[in-house]
Amino acid sequence: MENRGHQSSAPPDPGILVLQIAQSFRQLPISLIVNLANGLILVAVLWNAVPAPALLIWSGLLIAVTGARFLTLRAFRNAAPRTESEHVVWTRYFLAGACAAGVVWGASGILLFHPSSFPHQVLLAFVLGGMVAGAVPLLSSVSHAYRCFAIPAVVPISIRMMLVGDQIHLVMGLMIAIFGLAMLATSAQVHRLFRDSEKLRRELFSSTEVAQALEYLVRLDSLTGIPNRRLFEEELGKEWARAKRDNEPLSLIMVDIDHFKEYNDHYGHPAGDLCLVEVAQAMHHALSRPGDVVARIGGEEFAFLLPKTGLSGAISVAEQIREHVLSLNFPHEASPVARQVTLSFGVSSSELVSVSSPADLIRASDVALYEAKRCGRNQVVATQKMALS
Ligand code: GH3
Ligand code: MG
Ligand code: MG
Repeated sequence: MENRGHQSSAPPDPGILVLQIAQSFRQLPISLIVNLANGLILVAVLWNAVPAPALLIWSGLLIAVTGARFLTLRAFRNAAPRTESEHVVWTRYFLAGACAAGVVWGASGILLFHPSSFPHQVLLAFVLGGMVAGAVPLLSSVSHAYRCFAIPAVVPISIRMMLVGDQIHLVMGLMIAIFGLAMLATSAQVHRLFRDSEKLRRELFSSTEVAQALEYLVRLDSLTGIPNRRLFEEELGKEWARAKRDNEPLSLIMVDIDHFKEYNDHYGHPAGDLCLVEVAQAMHHALSRPGDVVARIGGEEFAFLLPKTGLSGAISVAEQIREHVLSLNFPHEASPVARQVTLSFGVSSSELVSVSSPADLIRASDVALYEAKRCGRNQVVATQKMALS
């Protein structure tokens, strides 16, 4: 009871309502088949024992309610509701169907009750008990649905039994009522289990999403928004292994902004930050092949990883990027090289015999970059093609 009070004070969860009603309508065909089959078997068994008008009226009610619930199911499938308010309306339809079925089964407790044949009375009580028990898994996901069905189904037969007046009927009536109460408690338990498991599933799902988003974020550079050194190193390891396995070349371009200290000194640190963002974005968008990566690996240093690209291909990529950034004409009045921001490039490739590990690849590109700086900056230098394998 305490738990229930807590449950009603908790804010309704729209996501769970949607799942509950979807689950209930998914299970409805089984309910409808069982309702119709059990009802018709009951009518057949009682055919000569209960007056025909009572049987016909009850069968008519059963078929009408089952048909209406079937039409509701079809309409729900066609409507494919999306919003929460639509689901609230469909929940009401579902509850109305469950109540109507409960009333029909409850009516059987009066209309089909044989006044003198004990075996027929037991059969009726047995079928009603089976219906009420079988409805627990089918009707418990939507709040109140099980109550709407079970209470009207159980109360009439229970009272009718007690009204017979003798001790055995009194006990049977009481036992049916107790059984009904036990089933109500079971259904409440099943409902809580359903709700809690859905909540857990959703929490797990959202925490996995958050973890994935964080995983992604820790691999991005916070200033420029492009991949950072961590992602670069991971990709280098993976691409190196892939290149060796597939016997494909892998190239690495190191890039460094020329005289960036002077840029900061001249324009100020915030302007320097902005320049880093612009250069990084320009290089990032200059990449055309899906596997290529550019990362910010240090203050004003960047690295391109070019899978399936040999040294000459990487040299031309570096040259294109150098010219592309030049064409954007970011001013750098304090640079001794040009009146705009320029870049120096060092290129190397796994094709080189001197390169036999990822660390060698980085070292070779660094040496080439140093050479580009030494030779006047604003240029691309590749590690000497010594002997190609
Ligand atoms: P070189 O042409 O030889 O590369 O000269 P440089 O001035 O670019 O190189 P140096 O290594 O002397 O200086 C790098 C400068 O980059 C110094 C540092 O303040 C600046 N820098 C590094 N990280 C950042 C950053 O995140 N923001 C800004 N604004 N400046 C940065
Ligand atoms: Mg530097
Ligand atoms: Mg520099």
